Amino acid sequence: MLEQTGINRREFLKYAAVAGSLSFLNTQKAEAFSSNAKGRIVIIGAGAAGLSLAARLRKWLKKPDLTLIDPADRQFYQPGFTLIASGVYQPGEVWKKQEDCIPKDIRWIKEAVVAVDPVANRVTTSGNQKIDYDFLVIAPGIQIHWDWIEGFDYSKLGQGNAHSIYDFQGAQKTWQAMQEFSRTGGKGVYTDTYTKHKCGGAPKKICLLTEHYTRKQQTRETVDLHFYTASKQLYDVPYFTPRLLDIYAERHIPINLTTRVKGIDTAAKQVYLEKTETVGDQKIITPIKEDYDFLHFTPPMSAPDFVRQAGLDSADGTVPEQSWVAVDKETLIHKNYPNIIALGDCAGIPTSKTSAATRMQVPIAGKNLIALMEGKEPTERYDGYAACPIVTDYGHVLMCEFDYSKERKSSFPFSWMNASQELRLAWLVKVYMLKPLYFYGMLKGKA
Ligand SMILES: Cc1cc2nc3c(=O)[nH]c(=O)nc-3n(C[C@H](O)[C@H](O)[C@H](O)COP(=O)(O)OP(=O)(O)OC[C@H]3O[C@@H](n4cnc5c(N)ncnc54)[C@H](O)[C@@H]3O)c2cc1C
Repeated sequence: MLEQTGINRREFLKYAAVAGSLSFLNTQKAEAFSSNAKGRIVIIGAGAAGLSLAARLRKWLKKPDLTLIDPADRQFYQPGFTLIASGVYQPGEVWKKQEDCIPKDIRWIKEAVVAVDPVANRVTTSGNQKIDYDFLVIAPGIQIHWDWIEGFDYSKLGQGNAHSIYDFQGAQKTWQAMQEFSRTGGKGVYTDTYTKHKCGGAPKKICLLTEHYTRKQQTRETVDLHFYTASKQLYDVPYFTPRLLDIYAERHIPINLTTRVKGIDTAAKQVYLEKTETVGDQKIITPIKEDYDFLHFTPPMSAPDFVRQAGLDSADGTVPEQSWVAVDKETLIHKNYPNIIALGDCAGIPTSKTSAATRMQVPIAGKNLIALMEGKEPTERYDGYAACPIVTDYGHVLMCEFDYSKERKSSFPFSWMNASQELRLAWLVKVYMLKPLYFYGMLKGKA
């Protein structure tokens, strides 16, 4: 891994010492806090949000009655998918067996939730078990809709050189294809999507990493790279936007705004896009057809279907892509059902869907849940903190951290660090610190 990142061992040790102390400086200590509150708590999803919260509640409640429901065999550190797709991590480095992550004294039902009845306080699982709860935590992450792209479904991922790192296998195929693309050259098309999606930075990162990879292979002049975003701007946190735009300009990667993917023809290696412009009060939609040699796309995403079907979303079940769980953006408590909390990617809150955001939500959700159980007013407030470390090349990261106001919010305590620029230290934090922080800090309720 060190060879791929261009860092020698001495430099690594120097930076790792700084990064280690830095990272743990920002780690919230699992405070001495405990409660006698009682009640049956059911948690849907044992990923970054659900398992981290279960770990906290297990410590904080004197007599925890916790049931985790999740069908997955493996716990993935998903931010590592970008690093698999660029050859920095090996696939085996980003996951652990779920049975080794879930504490033995927590009841784990290894099935998916298919329905929630928020009036009867009951969930139904894929095995038709009916589980009653007093308090419900909704944390099933995101559902990916490969087939919302015309002409595409999951079975076609990787065919016709159409790749996506929003999938574990997909990330591995991307790395194989990126190496091949740097040998053959050609046109590379990179896109995000029109729905909210996990880690808004990921589509930009893989584009920039491909560009740097081809420079390292001395084949940059053989590839022609284009980035398409469905948004009105490349990035919406003003502190970081100018530098990101400069990086794309310096690397000669044109950015196409307000353009979304409609369909992919993997056999013909063509991607169908739609550009939306507003002129006066008229919306003008222009279809675009692009031939590609290498495509990296982002699939549309929503909260899992049961959220919409149970009427737990803010769009009254009518708009699937807006079906995020309707919670208060500060307390994370459901707007209609005060015994339900949601956090992580499924929550309908106006911040970035990242595990960094989830990490900050966990103690707030946990303390507010306990306040509800105790019949007290929930007082903890989430400020929308999210971090999206945008990897700009093999060795540097633009450490984008912000809150609901889209103001910069820094974890770096050193005023001499200019976080509006890409930093080598941030790369070291990203590559070496955040994964252990996830598995050994966050998931264990310690960070
Ligand atoms: C390519 C990529 C790059 C990323 N980069 C970053 C990054 O750099 N920084 C960052 O902070 N974040 C990043 N993220 C985002 C981060 O991984 C997510 O924000 C985080 O995992 C969200 O946590 P979660 O618990 O909500 O969802 P997840 O961690 O996805 O967990 C959801 C869990 O719910 C389970 N589940 C799903 N449906 C059901 C159901 N019906 N019933 C029961 N269980 C269910 C799943 O099996 C899973 O275990 C990235 C993600 C990807 C894919």
